[in-house]
Amino acid sequence: MRLVVKKDPVCGRQVTHEKFRVTYKRVEYFFCSMQCESTFKREPDRFAKKGERA
Ligand SMILES: [Zn+2]
Repeated sequence: MRLVVKKDPVCGRQVTHEKFRVTYKRVEYFFCSMQCESTFKREPDRFAKKGERA
């Protein structure tokens, strides 16, 4: 089993699964829950900027 550690851009938690994944502007984001995923989808720019490096 592959361990995936990603940071949920919405709530800031570490995400250790790939159940909720969204690719936005060629960056892959992982979410801890469907709720965080839908929050991101509603306003992707608001959250995507945090982890984005120019
Ligand atoms: Zn979350």
